[in-house]
Amino acid sequence: MNTNRTRVAIHNRNMRTDAEEFARPAQPPDTTSWSALREAAKDCEACHLYKGATQTVFGEGPKGATMMLVGEQPGDYEDVAGKPFVGPAGKIMDQALEEAGIDRTKVYVTNAVKHFKWEPRGKRRIHQKPNSREIAACRPWLEAELRIVKPKLVVAMGATAAQTIFGPAFRVTRERGKVLSSKLAPRVLATVHPSSLLRQPDEASREREYKRFVSDLRAALYAAGEE
Ligand code: SF4
Repeated sequence: MNTNRTRVAIHNRNMRTDAEEFARPAQPPDTTSWSALREAAKDCEACHLYKGATQTVFGEGPKGATMMLVGEQPGDYEDVAGKPFVGPAGKIMDQALEEAGIDRTKVYVTNAVKHFKWEPRGKRRIHQKPNSREIAACRPWLEAELRIVKPKLVVAMGATAAQTIFGPAFRVTRERGKVLSSKLAPRVLATVHPSSLLRQPDEASREREYKRFVSDLRAALYAAGEE
């Protein structure tokens, strides 16, 4: 094959990808009204992810909740329902919250990225991890939620949530379970994303990791001053 022609084809493909996968910082309205914020987020087109998703999945929970749980992004179920953490990972999270003594109706639950990123595989929509540009584009929505809810403690679940709050060098494996401080929130505890419990290779490791997750949530409850 003609090498120059191949280079041009790759260049054109990359150019097309860059143009299609645009991402600029979202601009939430300056408001103290959670409802107004949520309404505005429905129309966000700051990055290309809105195009493939059914709807914006904004956070949910009481304004003034002492604890805010932050995940990565909505999954297939959440995208259809328009609610965070209602799929399999949400169910295991609910079970762990209950076991840790945390009432889910009293915590605010949201994601670092508000639209579902996926790729087709047959008839299925397979989760794709959001990249740093998409995370940065969506971050103003999380900042706005934090400004309004003002939780005493944020639980960052998984690498995407933790890196949104602490930056790309943050490693959950190193800092898991510690109460740390960041510019975004004064008190943050990082743990794994509940979906990681579903990916464990066998029942024994799933049980072990589930117990660790519950233990992190208990530590969060204590740190939020709820126990
Ligand atoms: S993912 Fe976030 S920044 Fe991108 S369009 Fe959706 S709400 Fe806006």
